[in-house]
Amino acid sequence: MKIVVLVKHVPDAQGERTFNASDNTTDRTAVDGLLSELDEYAVEEALKLKESAEAEVVVLTMGPADAVDAVRKSLQMGADSGVHVLDDALHGSDAPATSLVLAHAVRKIGESGPVDLVLTGMASTDGTMGVVPAMLAERLGLPQVTYASELTVGDGTVTIRRDGDASTQVVEASLPAVVSVTDQINEPRYPSFKGIMAAKKKPVETWSLADLGLDPSQVGLAAAWTKVESFTARPPRTQGEVVTDEGDGGVKLAEFLVSRKFV
Ligand SMILES: Cc1cc2nc3c(=O)[nH]c(=O)nc-3n(C[C@H](O)[C@H](O)[C@H](O)COP(=O)(O)OP(=O)(O)OC[C@H]3O[C@@H](n4cnc5c(N)ncnc54)[C@H](O)[C@@H]3O)c2cc1C
Repeated sequence: MKIVVLVKHVPDAQGERTFNASDNTTDRTAVDGLLSELDEYAVEEALKLKESAEAEVVVLTMGPADAVDAVRKSLQMGADSGVHVLDDALHGSDAPATSLVLAHAVRKIGESGPVDLVLTGMASTDGTMGVVPAMLAERLGLPQVTYASELTVGDGTVTIRRDGDASTQVVEASLPAVVSVTDQINEPRYPSFKGIMAAKKKPVETWSLADLGLDPSQVGLAAAWTKVESFTARPPRTQGEVVTDEGDGGVKLAEFLVSRKFV
């Protein structure tokens, strides 16, 4: 079984995020990046499948030069190989363009043996749109099942449990399929020292748009369906108001919430 795991390199949420003033895009060089936390669950699930059945795990990312760090971390956890789609023309790509590039990359990965399963996080921790898996499945013409909190691969099928607010669904799809997983599905492992050393020897390919048969005009800011019109820096935090409870603490709190339109 060949499993492709999508991993995104995102700006560290602890850092101060900024935008490029020239084109209103996210400044991805301003803060350190890391493997999107929610994608660690997808990597872990692929590794668990690999432990229970014969499987090859390929991690795939699209992003600037630093994005290879997300691939490296996944290889340290135990994935077999990585692919990094890197091209200056990708700057400013939105979700449709991202899914277009990833779909072409998944197809190319499939040239060396059919891909059975594409695993993704349920959302990236920066964009948090949660739409890339669905767009990718549509472009690949594959069934997609989303928000898996449990996953089983059977004979030509994948079955997932999907926990909603009011009910739990069990959904089955035929393979190959695209599956997004939640943070309830497992507990991602930390890379071991052995894993870190082994990762140094694992292959990582870098593909350009040309390698994928894509034209720069299909991606980037010019092709984006959405663009940021303007942005305003967040105002500095002001000191909070201390409410002393003199028997009317509850009323004061309620008044505060009403004044902010929270209730
Ligand atoms: C090179 C580059 C330039 C960008 N420039 C801009 C910009 O100028 N302005 C702007 O607003 N946004 C920009 N983005 C962000 C881009 O719009 C989002 O990556 C894209 O729209 C996906 O949305 P999301 O992150 O919310 O994905 P979601 O749908 O929330 O992600 C779901 C899952 O899809 C997978 N996934 C998503 N993106 C990637 C990826 N790149 N590689 C691998 N797996 C992925 C992950 O498994 C993730 O957990 C850029 C991204 C890249 C990589």
